[in-house]
Amino acid sequence: MSHSGHTAGFLANVAEFLDRAASHTGLESDLLEQIRACNGVYRMRFPVRRDDGSIEVVEAYRAQHSHHRRPTKGGIRFSMHVDQDEVMALAALMTYKCAIVNVPFGGAKGGVRIDPYSSSEGFRERVTRRYVAELSRLNLIGPATDVPAPDYGTGEREMGWIADTYKLLHPSELDSFACVTGKPLSMHGLAGRLEATGLGVFYGIRECMAVAEDMKAAGLTPGLAGKRLVVQGLGNVGYHAAHFAQQDGGCVVVGIAEREGGIHAPDGLDVDAVAKHRAETGSLQNFPGATNVLSPAEVLELDCDVLVPAALENQITAANAPRIRARLIAEAANGPVDPGAARILEEGGRFLLPDIYLNAGGVTVSYFEWLKNLSHASFERITTRWERMANDRMLGAMERLSGAELGADERSELTRGPREIDFVRSALAETMELAYRHIHERWRSRGLPDLRTAALCFAIERMGETYRSQGIFP
Ligand code: NAD
Repeated sequence: MSHSGHTAGFLANVAEFLDRAASHTGLESDLLEQIRACNGVYRMRFPVRRDDGSIEVVEAYRAQHSHHRRPTKGGIRFSMHVDQDEVMALAALMTYKCAIVNVPFGGAKGGVRIDPYSSSEGFRERVTRRYVAELSRLNLIGPATDVPAPDYGTGEREMGWIADTYKLLHPSELDSFACVTGKPLSMHGLAGRLEATGLGVFYGIRECMAVAEDMKAAGLTPGLAGKRLVVQGLGNVGYHAAHFAQQDGGCVVVGIAEREGGIHAPDGLDVDAVAKHRAETGSLQNFPGATNVLSPAEVLELDCDVLVPAALENQITAANAPRIRARLIAEAANGPVDPGAARILEEGGRFLLPDIYLNAGGVTVSYFEWLKNLSHASFERITTRWERMANDRMLGAMERLSGAELGADERSELTRGPREIDFVRSALAETMELAYRHIHERWRSRGLPDLRTAALCFAIERMGETYRSQGIFP
């Protein structure tokens, strides 16, 4: 098993966090052993033609951590750092995440060791389609077995190729579009899935910052408005988290890091303008009005209130934790803070919002997409007209009783039925807020050491109930 760079120790870190929590649950050791175990991990190698005609033998994985609920679910990562331990660690986090937000899946993760940045689109498409053929041959993909989604280095386009390949391989399967989530809208995707993880991160931060006594203990006033935020990674999760935190939360984004370096502006950066600048110039740096920070790691250490690591695991370790100045560390990425760093930060009074809660908005909305694909109907089609008529009758009665009359625009805004995006966003907000209250309540009522431990206890106990209800454990 190879360990490269930031993936080293990731699997052991996840196990360490879990073991810390398990000691607070009182669950039997055999049940804990099953909850901890990775049920299956599959390694494959397949040849793919490069653009120059030569062949690359690509290494890929799919790990299914837990079958206590099926299908299993989890993203597919394209990165040169992919290895067996990394997919196993990420699959385990998926299991706990699904349990926390009450999404009925077991955890899984896929990884393909290719460079998502330097490879051509044609090569990535050939790799993706071949990977799906391998998964399909092994029965590791399908609406009822294992349902992938985007992760680091993949997005809607890859999910579209996956759905298309699966459909070609299973032409008579009625539900084939439910084999993957995060698809483009034009391929039976769901409005609101693209931004779901980052928006969920914003909802989670907002919920946590509303609790005044927790914020006071962390040295912050409640609420996100006016707080200085730094984000690492301006990809799908980081961009959307920063965008919504700025636009809807009123925070000031003072630093952004990307692979090529970072930028700093104490008076604030316009996240959308920075994203546009990077798309146009290929780099974050030299953004008008901002100072370049040469190393992306230095950005983590900028003076700020909220730090959002949204790139990769093991970014904050015992080596740099003492230099982190943020009071709240919002783990948008999976595993960005290792156990040694978590201890240092928490001893210093910082508040850590754990990944297994904070980035669970992605799988939550993926669940809605899977449901939509299985039902073969859009959420809005059946109810919209009825709701419009009901609202119209209600407003008419209010107008009659009050003698006042609404303008046409106001009336149509108040009576319109909900659109798909309205259902998705409101359900996402509800899920993130409810899950926060559950884990927070467990943390405080049991006097647990930290929120991650509480979240993991919550997940473990929920999984234990499921295993018991299936008659597997007494
Ligand atoms: P992405 O590929 O869209 O974006 C990641 C970004 O991080 C890229 O822009 C990349 O250039 C940047 N990056 C890489 N190394 C960096 C460094 N050292 N410093 C600064 N930036 C760096 O991936 P994503 O989907 O946004 O995933 C990011 C993290 O969130 C991962 O840990 C992933 O597992 C997790 N996550 C993603 C989802 C999802 O729905 N996509 C859901 C849950 C968790």
